[in-house]
Amino acid sequence: MATIGELLLRGKARFAAAAFAPPPASRETALLLGRVLGLSEAQILARDERPVEPADAALYQAWIERRAGGEPVAYILGEREFYGRVFQVDSRVLIPRPETEHLIEQVLAIPLPPRPRILEVGAGSGCIAVTLACELTAARLIATDLSAGALAVARGNAARLGATDRVALVRTDLFDGIRLETIDLLVSNPPYVDRTEAAEMSPEVCNFEPHLALFPPGGGGLETISRLLDSAAALRHGVRVLLEIGRGQLEAVESSARAAGFDLLAAHPDYAGIPRVAVLSRL
Ligand code: GLN
Repeated sequence: MATIGELLLRGKARFAAAAFAPPPASRETALLLGRVLGLSEAQILARDERPVEPADAALYQAWIERRAGGEPVAYILGEREFYGRVFQVDSRVLIPRPETEHLIEQVLAIPLPPRPRILEVGAGSGCIAVTLACELTAARLIATDLSAGALAVARGNAARLGATDRVALVRTDLFDGIRLETIDLLVSNPPYVDRTEAAEMSPEVCNFEPHLALFPPGGGGLETISRLLDSAAALRHGVRVLLEIGRGQLEAVESSARAAGFDLLAAHPDYAGIPRVAVLSRL
C-alpha cells in the first residue's frame, strides 16, 4: 500500500508535467488527498507514513489526473465556498469567484424597503441570489438564467441553504416576462468577457467553464450589459442596478448607462484594484 507521503510526491510529479502553465500548486495534492480521506490538509501533512487503501489511492490518482488536465478543483470536489457558504457546482455553472463577493457587499450596503424584491439576471450556481436570500431574510429574490442546467444547480443550492421559499428561479432571457415595475434592486454578474480575449484566458477557465456564462453571444464583451440596460427602462426612478464588470469596461459601461437612462453612482474595485462593481441608478 502506498503511503500518504508517496501519494503526495506522485501527485506533485504529475502536476509538474501538467498540460497547462502555470501548473496546479503542489499543495493542491494535500487538499485532494485530504478530501478523499476525510482529513484536513494539515492532518495529511502530519501523517506522511500512513498507508492509504488502494480504492482511496485510485480515486486520488483519478482526481490528480483531472486536475493535471486543467479541470478546476471546484468541479473535481463539486463545491466552492462563497461568502461563507458552500455551494455545489459542476460544469453547468461558472465557479463562484471572490470578486463577486464584492457585488454582495455592495448590495448589502444599499438602503432597501423592508420587504425588498430583488431581481438577479444570470443566476448560474445561484450563489448571488441564494446568498442575498440568506443575508436579507425579508427579501424575495427572482433569479433568471437561460440555462436549464444552471437553474437545476441553483435550485439544489437554494434547497440546501434553506432559501427555496424566497428564491424564484426562472428560465428566461434577461428578465423577459418579469414586471420590472415591481423590482426594488437589480443585480447581475452577466457574461462580459470579450471573445477576442479567449486566447489569453487560462485554459482552466476557457476549456472547462460554461461559455454561456463568460462570453456574450455576439462576441463583444459589453453586449449583454448594454442589452440589459437598454431593456430595463421600466425600472422605477431611483432603483439601483449593480453589475459586475470586466477589466477596462467602466467607461463604456458608464456611457451605455447614460444612453439607457441610468446614472453611474459608484464603481468599487476588487482585490486587484480593478473597478469590478458598477452601481447605477435609474433616472
Ligand atoms: N470573472 C470571470 C472571469 O474572468 C468572468 C465572469 C463573467 O463573465 N461574468 O473568468
